[in-house]
Amino acid sequence: MAQDKKQVEQITDMEVDFAKWYTDVCKKAELIDYSSIKGMFIYRPYGYAIWENIQRILDGEFKKTGHENVYLPMLIPESLLQKEKDHVEGFAPECAWVTYGGVDKLEERYCIRPTSETLFCEHYANIIHSHRDLPKLYNQWTSVLRWEKTSRPFLRHREFLWQEGHTMHATAEEAQAETERMFNIYADFFKDVLAIPVVKGRKTDKEKFSGAEATYTVECMMHDRKALQGGTSHYFGDGFAKAFDITFTGRDNQLHHPFQTSWGVSTRMIAGIIMVHGDNNGLVLPPRVAPIQVVVIPVAQHKEGVIEANRAVMDRLSAAGLRVKMDDSDQSPGWKFAEYEMKGVPLRLELGPKDIEKNQCVLVRRDSGEKAFVSLDGIEDTVSRMLDEIHNGLYTKALKNLEENTYACASLEEVKTKVAAQGGFAKTMWCGDLECELKMKEEAGVSSRCIPLEQEHLGDTCAICGKPARHMVYWGVAY
Ligand SMILES: [Zn+2]
Repeated sequence: MAQDKKQVEQITDMEVDFAKWYTDVCKKAELIDYSSIKGMFIYRPYGYAIWENIQRILDGEFKKTGHENVYLPMLIPESLLQKEKDHVEGFAPECAWVTYGGVDKLEERYCIRPTSETLFCEHYANIIHSHRDLPKLYNQWTSVLRWEKTSRPFLRHREFLWQEGHTMHATAEEAQAETERMFNIYADFFKDVLAIPVVKGRKTDKEKFSGAEATYTVECMMHDRKALQGGTSHYFGDGFAKAFDITFTGRDNQLHHPFQTSWGVSTRMIAGIIMVHGDNNGLVLPPRVAPIQVVVIPVAQHKEGVIEANRAVMDRLSAAGLRVKMDDSDQSPGWKFAEYEMKGVPLRLELGPKDIEKNQCVLVRRDSGEKAFVSLDGIEDTVSRMLDEIHNGLYTKALKNLEENTYACASLEEVKTKVAAQGGFAKTMWCGDLECELKMKEEAGVSSRCIPLEQEHLGDTCAICGKPARHMVYWGVAY
């Protein structure tokens, strides 16, 4: 048992050092490895498999709503990037450039895409001519590159994986509806698939995407009460379309500029999963994206018929569409328990000679540690139901953390005191001025997370300057 104990001890307690706990989990659960370039990570099979599940489910949602996947080049000519002023100002500091092709210096340097609005616009200018060409509902799954100064696994990579949807519409109303539709798909995905509750809102002008008219965001609270921006959906109006000279002939036979959206989520969601659900024994995965939903561990596997009985149960669960693995390696059961706890496998199924006699098995939940003896009759349904219970249990626990650490404040002083003591989300009234937003950052160390769609009336005046208030805002320390 000494070896089993050691395996668990290798991760730092989250209460002692949350950041260290986080990187320990990323490494010990075999999600990621470091490469020789700072900020560029290797997604290991187990980590990549989580992304594949996310991708498969979201891609299905995109297709159900009429979107098509495309692939655009990874290089953007500098002149193209510069066509939209706010956009280039926002991204230029993080761009990496290609300046040589073989041994020749290029006449124009190329940016490695930090995002692809400009490339999509160039393409759309070529293929959109008539109202019959609209809407264009495109998405691409790809990697992007942003030359960050600091890096952490999944949270901040120089190169990371994401999807970027880019759509064009004949009217502003249609584009606005698309922005909201995709934003709601993200919010539902967080709740129904990742078991993470979100605050749905709009970004302030300071925090919105470079070049966007409006940015919608889903904000999540991590276990350490810091905020993580989960996904964003942007409405561009016709600003980019004008800058890129994209026009179409309307039903009225006049030339018009189309209206545009973009929306994206990235492998940062995996950081959210780790930091919302994980515990001191390692990762805790929400069942709907877990690469292994049930691990089957034979007990006294040297005895006759044990492996066969275990394999039969595994086959039944697989046939029912569940993701199952049986571990009949020569490691001790204790070692296996610790290993799959570390990897956050939602359910462990143990089956030994005595269980086989009684036509039962043992199920152990990763989230709560609860142990149950259940009949092998109808094991498929029992396991499916228990996976749903785990999903709901994880969601309820995360919601409790969010609700208990979101509080109203009437003044900047109150925000300062409470944020320092408790972290979490402080909600206040706000006049809408950038000055007050900057003051909040300077003095309380928090940024505006969002202007929630569900507004509450906490008072008539801005908590910072005392002028008439326009919105209720959530503030927090963000990753
Ligand atoms: Zn103010």
